[in-house]
Amino acid sequence: MSEPIDYDLFVIGGGINGVGIACDASGRGLSVGLCEMHDLASGTSSQSSKLIHGGLRYLEQYQFRLVREALAEREVLLKKAPHIITPLLFRLPHHPHLRPRWLIRLGLFLYDHLSRRVSLPASKSVLLAEPEGLIDSLQHGFEYADAKVDDARLVLLNALATRGNGGDIHNYCRCVQAQRGDGHWRLWLQHRGQDELQQITCKVLVNAAGPWLQQTYDEVLQRPCPKQMRLVKGSHIVVPRLNASDKAYLLQNTDGRIVFVIPYQQHYSLIGTTDEDYQGDPAAACIAEVEIDYLIQSVARYFKRRLRREEIVSHYAGVRPLFATQGQVAAAELSRDYSFELDGEPGQAALVSVFGGKITTYRKLSEAVVDSLAAYLPSMTGAWTASTVLPGGDFTDVAELQREFAGRYPFLPDDLLQRYLSAYGTRVVELLQASRCLDDLGEHFGAGLYRREVDYLMQQEWAVTAQDILWRRTKLGLQMSDTTSLENYMAASSMSLKR
Ligand SMILES: Cc1cc2nc3c(=O)[nH]c(=O)nc-3n(C[C@H](O)[C@H](O)[C@H](O)COP(=O)(O)OP(=O)(O)OC[C@H]3O[C@@H](n4cnc5c(N)ncnc54)[C@H](O)[C@@H]3O)c2cc1C
Repeated sequence: MSEPIDYDLFVIGGGINGVGIACDASGRGLSVGLCEMHDLASGTSSQSSKLIHGGLRYLEQYQFRLVREALAEREVLLKKAPHIITPLLFRLPHHPHLRPRWLIRLGLFLYDHLSRRVSLPASKSVLLAEPEGLIDSLQHGFEYADAKVDDARLVLLNALATRGNGGDIHNYCRCVQAQRGDGHWRLWLQHRGQDELQQITCKVLVNAAGPWLQQTYDEVLQRPCPKQMRLVKGSHIVVPRLNASDKAYLLQNTDGRIVFVIPYQQHYSLIGTTDEDYQGDPAAACIAEVEIDYLIQSVARYFKRRLRREEIVSHYAGVRPLFATQGQVAAAELSRDYSFELDGEPGQAALVSVFGGKITTYRKLSEAVVDSLAAYLPSMTGAWTASTVLPGGDFTDVAELQREFAGRYPFLPDDLLQRYLSAYGTRVVELLQASRCLDDLGEHFGAGLYRREVDYLMQQEWAVTAQDILWRRTKLGLQMSDTTSLENYMAASSMSLKR
């Protein structure tokens, strides 16, 4: 058997926090590896509300540190990945018997001023017009800006950047055991479809297993978890577009909670989320009937159109890995802030564990984690991620990018070019290479998915199954009902890749 690879830092977990840390560390001259037991982003990081936001609601809980940091990160991330992170205007209809107008104004004033805004407009009062489809009694409201993100692609872009910096990404690879030795960890990795375990060693081990953090302590590290976690499930439904405009809505509920209605892909609205305490395997979380009722009723209080259950095109549930606070606190009230624990003296094998967090703050968390390791990994260079774009994000003017690529690939239908650019940005060149006509893209599997893209995703973005492509690297699963030919093609391709 060959000698185990020795990494400076190894990460368990290919969600946004794991890949964020791997990306940051790999760009500081460290040797880095990461393993993900299922597909990259298959955990909570593809099941979010897909917002890069300060979290207006957290102001009521006095979480000013989190809101300020998250607001500042909106600006950083809009520049880092302009293909997958774009501004989004929210409308907040005013219900006189819920939060008073002055309170909302105060909240929005803070939201506008807690951090410097460059690319997003300030909030304002608005009159709600008839075509928005809201019920007639709702005439006044507020408008403010946040941003939306393709959450799973944000994970993939960080994984691509890690690989670009020389790091190793092991997808479909579970860490089954980790033993602390003298100055090093020894890890046993189980690659999918292989019986023999791979051994690796590392100086610093990062437990970024999200909702599986406790389980990783129990089963992989076999030591007690230093903090108590509380798992909170949140669910979303996807329905045909509720409102014609490209604005999102923030709906206040009588129980004090809020529900988002967000324009999703071209033809849909994403509605969520709920907050339910959760026990059990996070991978088994799914939306409950009561959650569907709750979301439909929330919409009915605001929109004229009666949403029917049969209209639900898709739904998903994710589990937030939050740290438990003392006392009886409702799930919705638990802090969404992150923290991390560093265990081990310099010179010893260190263990870092990530608790909580948001997609919005993943970069700050990653930077803070890697900064904290300076005494353990003294060769590393300084922080760098704030001013560097993610793969495909090296453009500033989206209209110019569209013109350039429409000229370069004139045979592409507009909607296909649009989808490619908003997923891959300037990496469309790697995807299309020297294609000159639609036939060059190969077999069409449906919904605008051609063989060229499938090959690209298998070869460059670690896709293994049809689900990896249809739900995480793209969202074409919303439109494709028969996946047999795609599955057959991928199975045959992976056989030939292995040969
Ligand atoms: C309903 C909902 C809505 C949300 N909306 C937003 C939002 O709009 N904006 C925002 O900023 N945040 C949002 N969040 C929060 C955000 O999604 C999470 O904080 C974030 O995705 C957590 O990422 P993570 O990397 O910690 O966990 P995960 O994404 O779950 O990643 C952990 C990974 O570890 C892997 N793993 C576990 N054990 C092992 C092992 N032994 N070996 C290898 N791999 C292992 C898992 O398979 C998993 O992929 C939302 C969360 C939820 C639940």
